[in-house]
Amino acid sequence: MKIKINENFKNIAQSYLFSEIAHRVSAFQTENPQAKIIRLGIGDVTRPLTRRVVGAMKKASDEMGRAETFRGYAPEHGYDFVRDAVVSHYTEFGVKLDRNEVFISDGAKSDLGNIVDILGTNSILIPDPVYPVYVDSNVMSGRNVTLVPACEENGFLPSPDGITGEGHVIYICSPNNPTGAAYDRAGLSEWVDFAVRTGSLIIFDSAYEAFIEDGDIPHSIYELDGARECAIEICSLSKAAGFTGTRCGFTIVPAELEASGLKLSAMWERRQATKFNGVPYVIQRAAEAALTPEGYAECMENVKYYMENAKMISSLLTGKGIFYTGGKNSPYIWLRCTRGMSSWEFFDYLLNTANVVGTPGAGFGAQGEGFFRLTSFGTHEATAEAVERLDKIL
Ligand code: PLP
Repeated sequence: MKIKINENFKNIAQSYLFSEIAHRVSAFQTENPQAKIIRLGIGDVTRPLTRRVVGAMKKASDEMGRAETFRGYAPEHGYDFVRDAVVSHYTEFGVKLDRNEVFISDGAKSDLGNIVDILGTNSILIPDPVYPVYVDSNVMSGRNVTLVPACEENGFLPSPDGITGEGHVIYICSPNNPTGAAYDRAGLSEWVDFAVRTGSLIIFDSAYEAFIEDGDIPHSIYELDGARECAIEICSLSKAAGFTGTRCGFTIVPAELEASGLKLSAMWERRQATKFNGVPYVIQRAAEAALTPEGYAECMENVKYYMENAKMISSLLTGKGIFYTGGKNSPYIWLRCTRGMSSWEFFDYLLNTANVVGTPGAGFGAQGEGFFRLTSFGTHEATAEAVERLDKIL
């Protein structure tokens, strides 16, 4: 063809991580057909949607089948009933939002990927290792990214110490995927203060907020003074309410955020109105049901279930004196590979000796080399068996 393409796509790292895992697991299974493989590598939920969520979807589906209650296009920013449900959910964290600051979406990944549309050329700071969408979406749009090392020395929670300049766009994911590490109030405040001082924007990914157990870990960045002047928060019902296949999330753009004479909330509204046509009515009713206090309590039963798995895995590692982050305030457990193995050597070691599959840390960034991610999204039974097997080989 004679067209010009977006050459930036040539700069995106090939995401071979999960295909390589699938390839190695399938080769192993072919050679060892009797082996009962346990997968602790998945980042997807396994518990079903809750009773109230399913009830709301059924009711909304019936409404869609009757002329008098049928709905067509939803507002791009979401129906008021679900925006209000988000506002009221945030009061649980002591955060006051205005309905117009809440933008309902089909999930956090879309918003994290699309937010670059409203930003110009900036210094972009992204922790390494990290959820790959932040880097890839910036590279796709031709931006240069500076990686901020997260490592064992800083507990996988880098601080702004030593960073100079101003007007940065800073990505923070807490509790973090893949490391499970979560900023406490003091740690996150350092970033907020830095952002306010330097006129920077924080893009705060709170997709794992529901897993927070400790009182000192903020659920929302807006719990901290100054955050309304420097942060956009992007959240999701995927992990909190099991919506990975149902698709609903939300982004908060405070009215205070303004640059170059434009309000970021107005820009995001315009961006969404141009390129997005809203989340289906049935799904927004499901989201509303998940966000009511009773609905959320039901969802938290599933979160509790996963966290029981996390405890099983983290207790094993604590007992063996293996360094790890997460397992607390997060469904992820990020451990140092034993016996000096690299991430992929450790992957093969666990697969061959315990028939347990995890995710090599190197797949999330250079700083992830020598580390490994286990998840708590399996069943109690499978997790307990995996822990028993790992106990023998670690
Ligand atoms: N942010 C992080 C850190 C994630 O790990 C994920 C999914 O794994 C997402 C966002 C995407 O969430 P969603 O399913 O709402 O697109």
